[in-house]
Amino acid sequence: MNTFDVAIIGGGAAGLSAALVLTRARRRVVVIDAGEPRNAPAAHMQGFLSRDGMAPAELLALGRQEVASYGGLLVRGSVTSVHQGDDARFIVSVENNDTVGARRVLVTTGLRDEIPDVPGVRERWGRDLLHCPYCHGHEVKDQQLGVLGGTSEAVQHALIIRQWSEDVVYFSHTGAPTPPEREQLLARAVRIIEGPVTRLVVENDRLIGAGLEDGRVIARDAVFVRPRFVPNTDLLVQLGCATHDNGWVIADGTGRTSVIGVWVAGNAANPRAQVITAAGEGSAAAIAINNDLVDEDVRLAVHNARVRLPA
Ligand SMILES: Cc1cc2nc3c(=O)[nH]c(=O)nc-3n(C[C@H](O)[C@H](O)[C@H](O)COP(=O)(O)OP(=O)(O)OC[C@H]3O[C@@H](n4cnc5c(N)ncnc54)[C@H](O)[C@@H]3O)c2cc1C
Repeated sequence: MNTFDVAIIGGGAAGLSAALVLTRARRRVVVIDAGEPRNAPAAHMQGFLSRDGMAPAELLALGRQEVASYGGLLVRGSVTSVHQGDDARFIVSVENNDTVGARRVLVTTGLRDEIPDVPGVRERWGRDLLHCPYCHGHEVKDQQLGVLGGTSEAVQHALIIRQWSEDVVYFSHTGAPTPPEREQLLARAVRIIEGPVTRLVVENDRLIGAGLEDGRVIARDAVFVRPRFVPNTDLLVQLGCATHDNGWVIADGTGRTSVIGVWVAGNAANPRAQVITAAGEGSAAAIAINNDLVDEDVRLAVHNARVRLPA
């Protein structure tokens, strides 16, 4: 079994950024990645300084090249389990039955967006069925926008989306806004359409509107949703990492979890992380991991020196 200083599980922005810092710190690093980054459905990645508009896959391809150029090993595959061996090293198993050993583990497996189960929604996801105004808002500015509502979070989302267009419709969908929410929406000239949305209407591979139960189609160029963010933390839970009541793993500012030797970065721990944030968190975790390895190396060196030269 090959043993590395650090096994990074997940090769998106967080994982690759960590790998770059760690390989440049002359650590032996493996990145194991299933190849399904969260923003894969989007044609462009926005808001990453100096990379605005780049295709998401291109950023990751460049990142992989950089990591490989410093000697990092990139493995395509899904990690099925991680556990600690008798020597406190981690054993990481990949779906094809390969295993690698590692002194430290960094989990950067991202999150899943749970979006409403309305016909057409999944097909348009990341194209004209959107969630993040900071990722897509500028590209649909001044257009006819909708927000698929039903929750207080969706009302807040509509009030934010309003920043990008004066023509925003709030579809109450699964639940009408409360009177104070209604007042806020109307004060900001967000029209409220009552009743469930039953489908997205698409023509020539372009969204043209949202269909209602009564047969009406409300013309819209893009519709926003507020997904439920579900972190991909199975491996962290398997390792025994403590979680908050809502299921998100508890970590300090560097991504260190409650299990010694295990770190987390990016969307796996932080639903608000954009690509640039995820990359930054990966970098911060990498520096903390390297410092932790240095501490271990020093402890071991002192121990060995004392054994060789007894007082
Ligand atoms: C449609 C859409 C558009 C977006 N547009 C933008 C944008 O324009 N700008 C912006 O800043 N942000 C955007 N985002 C947010 C962006 O996707 C995230 O900020 C970013 O992907 C987080 O990076 P990450 O490394 O934490 O996770 P990810 O990029 O999701 O990477 C996680 C990686 O881990 C892998 N993985 C998961 N489980 C395992 C496992 N068990 N074993 C091995 N590998 C595993 C996955 O396959 C994936 O490759 C968008 C999101 C969506 C949904």
